[in-house]
Formats: sequence, structure tokens, C-alpha cells
Amino acid sequence: MPTSLTCPDCGTDYDAGPDEPWRCECGHALEFAESPHPKGNPLPISQLDTSNGLWTFFEFLPIERHVSLHEGFTPLVNAPEWGAQFKLEYVFPTGSFKDRGATTTLSRAVELGVEKVIEDSSGNAGASIATYAARAGLEADIYVPSTVKQSKLMAIQRAGARPVRVDGTREDVTMACISAVEAGEGWYASHAWNPAFYAGTMTFAFELAAQRGWTAPETLVLPIGHGTLFLGAYRGFSLLNRAGIVDGMPRLLGAQVAGYAPIVTALGGETVPGDGGDDPDIADGIQIAEPARGTQIVDALTETGGEVVALGSDPIESALDRLHRGGFYVEPTCAVAPAALRHFRESGVVDEDEDVVVPLTGSGLKTL
Ligand SMILES: [Zn+2]
Repeated sequence: MPTSLTCPDCGTDYDAGPDEPWRCECGHALEFAESPHPKGNPLPISQLDTSNGLWTFFEFLPIERHVSLHEGFTPLVNAPEWGAQFKLEYVFPTGSFKDRGATTTLSRAVELGVEKVIEDSSGNAGASIATYAARAGLEADIYVPSTVKQSKLMAIQRAGARPVRVDGTREDVTMACISAVEAGEGWYASHAWNPAFYAGTMTFAFELAAQRGWTAPETLVLPIGHGTLFLGAYRGFSLLNRAGIVDGMPRLLGAQVAGYAPIVTALGGETVPGDGGDDPDIADGIQIAEPARGTQIVDALTETGGEVVALGSDPIESALDRLHRGGFYVEPTCAVAPAALRHFRESGVVDEDEDVVVPLTGSGLKTL
């Protein structure tokens, strides 16, 4: 039986089904009413059968595996010139970490008997949902900004999904998509709103902990647009921590782009460089003015003693050059978190010898 939904804010419950609401009547994002909790001690990675990728951790997930492209267990590598470990989240079937959420979201769609999914995206999530919908044999409409990169548009079209181009801002794209969902055109496979997506991004934490002998790093530096990976990491480590599998939570540090930094505004964080007026269009993947779960992001940062910074285009481009020279062929949005790490080190937020992990979230091949 698919898990039912509940509103963590007002407590209203909703039955699971193809016509389930995409958010609560009160406007809050919905969550699963029940989620499994890991029990006992997990196996060391040398004894884990990881052939099912991130679905290795199926016992920790509230969704059954129906739609998979053998995603997950991305490499964790040492990057001594950055004083960190990088988790290579661009090593996924569609070239971004969004596949973590797409495999669980489309699996949920199949559990519910959905016939058509709808999503809005600036690129990576659209390509991912389109590809997993194709694997599931479901129709998909993907709402994209009319300025979307051609390579990302082609990824959506080649998967057999229908791109719907919308003029205007990123929020206009979301509004057009939500109108279609509310008109009953399909199930909202939203990476921002659908709890199934965050069930998938939790596996980032499970893999990372397993790869480190079931320990948490001292610090994680994560990009924040809607915060899908950020909240997935937080939820995953919270689950492991509550189960006593890891010994404490990592400190979560967030990275946003100048001009689209609502979490920085909420927490009084810095903008670097300090003029604040420099909207880095190169980092189009996280230009989100209103994250669907903004309060939870702020709470997670506060709870773990974290901080957040907004970056302008100069530090992002400089980090991107350094990454490419180091053999990390990533997209510009992906350079925001490494650029933030550099800032946090220079400003003393992160110590020289601190144990830090940074995900590299998207491939540079799609930005050609
Ligand atoms: Zn509610």
C-alpha cells in the first residue's frame, strides 16, 4: 500500500492516490505519514551488496523500487587541493543528483497508478523526470523557461516528454505548471513539493555514511535552491543519527547565489562579493526566490549550527575553472558549493583541517 500523506503544519491527512493533492489546503508542503526507521547495525560497505545502487537502502525508504536506471553509489573522492572530499553527484544516468529523487518519485507514481506526470524545471530535474517517466512508460509534460539551455531541452525531448516553454521568470514557469496540475492534467512530480523526491535525496546521506565506515563528516557544504539535496542530506543523517548508526549530525553549511538568496536573507548571512547586486546567471540551477520548504531549511541550518553564504559570479567562475582544471567536469551551478567552501575557509568558519564533504551536483556535458 502506498504511504498516505500528512501536513506537518496543520496535521491534515490525505489518502494516497493518483488524485492526491500536491500540497496541503493550508498551503504547506506535504510529507509521508509514515517512514521506515533503520534498525540494528548496517553492514560495512565491503559486505554490502550495492548492485542496486541507491536502492541498496530500500529498507530505509517509504517507496518500493519500480523505476530504476541503476542510479546511485556515486564515487566519494579525496580532493586534497580543496581540503575536502567530493561526492561526484554528476555521475548519474542523466548527469545530475536529481536522479536520486526521480527514481523514487516515478516509483511512487507507478505505485499510485498515475498515468501522466507534470514537472517544472530549469533543466536538470526536467531531464531527470522525463527520462525516468520514459522508463516507467508514463507521459510527461515538463514546463521550462523559454530561455532553457538547448542541451537540457533536447534531453527532455529525446526522452519522449513534452517540453512546455513558458516566457517570464522561473516563478512564472512554476505558476503555469501548477495551473495545469490543478486543472487535473496530471500528477505533480515536483522536485520541490513532492515528498517522494526527498525520500530519494536522503540516500545521499546513507551512501556517504556507508562510504565513510558509517560515520558522518564534521561538515557538509551544500547548494540551496529548493534545497532538495540539502534537506535530503539533513533528513538522511537525522534518521541515521536517531537510529544510533552515526555518532552525531554533520554541521550543514549552505551556498546560494546572489540575487536569489532567501535563506541568506532569513539568517542574516553574507553575500560575496559584497555588492549584492550581481545576479550570477551562470548558476541558473539554483535561482529560486521561494523554496517550497524554506522554513525547514532554516531550521536544519540552525539545528546543526550551520551558516549560509550567497555568491556572486566572480567566485563561482573562479571555482568552476579550478574544478575543471582538477578534472571535475561539472556545470557552473555545481561550482557554487565549492566556491562557498573557499569562502568559509577564508573567513574562518571552516578550519584548515576540518573534515568536509561537498557534493558536485551536475555534469558540465549538458551545458555545452
Ligand atoms: Zn496543512
